[in-house]
Amino acid sequence: MTNVLRAKNIILFLLSIALLSASCKVASKTGSVNKNGAVLIYNVNVINVKNGDILKNKAILIKKNIIEAIDDYSALQSKADYAEKIDAGGRYAIPGLWDMHMHIEEESLVEDNLALLPVYIAYGITTMRDCASDLGMQVLDWRNEINNGKLFGPRIFTAGRKLEGMHTMWKGAMEIANEKDLNEKLDSLTSFKVDFIKITENTLAGDLFLKAVIESKKRGFKVSGHVPIDLSIKDLADARFSSIEHASYLIRLGSDEDETIRELKADTLSRADANKQYFKNFDQQKAVEGYKMLARKNVAICPTLIGGKQLAYLDEDDHHNDAYLQYLSKRFKKNYSWRINRQSTDTKEQIQQRKNNYELIAKQIPYLQSSGMLILAGTDAAALNSFIYPGLALHQELVLFQKAGLAPLAALQSATINGAKFMGVDDSLGYVEPGKIADILLLNRNPLEDISATQDIFAVMKSGIYYNRKALDSLLETAKQKSIELDAKRGD
Ligand SMILES: [Zn+2]
Repeated sequence: MTNVLRAKNIILFLLSIALLSASCKVASKTGSVNKNGAVLIYNVNVINVKNGDILKNKAILIKKNIIEAIDDYSALQSKADYAEKIDAGGRYAIPGLWDMHMHIEEESLVEDNLALLPVYIAYGITTMRDCASDLGMQVLDWRNEINNGKLFGPRIFTAGRKLEGMHTMWKGAMEIANEKDLNEKLDSLTSFKVDFIKITENTLAGDLFLKAVIESKKRGFKVSGHVPIDLSIKDLADARFSSIEHASYLIRLGSDEDETIRELKADTLSRADANKQYFKNFDQQKAVEGYKMLARKNVAICPTLIGGKQLAYLDEDDHHNDAYLQYLSKRFKKNYSWRINRQSTDTKEQIQQRKNNYELIAKQIPYLQSSGMLILAGTDAAALNSFIYPGLALHQELVLFQKAGLAPLAALQSATINGAKFMGVDDSLGYVEPGKIADILLLNRNPLEDISATQDIFAVMKSGIYYNRKALDSLLETAKQKSIELDAKRGD
């Protein structure tokens, strides 16, 4: 052997050691198993979220990031002798969960938000829809990096930055005063390759809001948002609005919305009184007619009950010792005081009214389901939204759906296939079946009996990479350490 060859061999040897230790580092950090690019999960009950059927005692073969087959273990074993085998011990497989309304927000919390991405995975959320913020441009980068495998976290669909009126309270919004502005901003959002358009009504008047919906739809976008007080839900539906964010707006359908808007425009009614009137004059049957109209026009609803619940019951629920707080830095938690302070001067009557309003909104969930509307489970988790904890809140939202009277299967659908259908990606995501991307949760209990079983996670697979309980716990531990580190660095 010549010296040159020997040197080459030594270099190759060193290189292979370096590669080996690098891959070991990844494996030990994540606990992932994907030997030879194939995994066989056996002794598993596979839940069909379309109809609630359970395929009992099956095996799921995953190759790279795709579900290759679901069959009896005996049938798959021979085809997959090279695969890493995982005994699920009779547990339940469901699709990875979707949080269809959350925000990665606040310029001063970039590192905090980055550290929370793995926390979402630890809580079984494999896909989320970011509904715009001041960090919109950052989120677009993270979305792309996650898709390219450069960053670890849930798959993200994002609106980037939202459309608003001039001088809005929302930081980082794209402010529009007229149609020219609107078209310029939509050009920008198109060039950013956002996944949908988000519009809110803090300072955006109804007529320009409606134009924004129509223009966005013309460009082929899905459009989600709030409902301006001077615009009817029917007008939005006629403009093919894709989803209403927050079920509180739907209360308007329980009375004569057009009449209230007329009074508002004639200045015989204030905005605050209009809102009160909607709750006071609410008629359930009339509201159901409205929900059926929205279902016919394909308008989806993302109720976000958990946010309203946390704020309405602040006087009863003490959050100071919530275990989740260990994952959040002091600076992050400081933001929670914004909404708390906003209602700190509320009277007893106002507090009671807030609770009554929340209960009426929650009561709508089964009516929304039976009217045929597509329900999207979303939380509004964000730095500014008090005690809506990233990841955990989605599970709490599902429990609230169940408490409100939704069947566990419908609740499960709202956090899996409905999101995939809404985003138009249900050909590849949202189900545990052959041909789909392998986003799978293994649960210790059957969620069709009680939806709180989604909180009892044995393992998470995202895009074919498997994280056992130990790996998930280590993701949470890392987040905890990161928040301590950030506090120390900031002197908080
Ligand atoms: Zn939101």
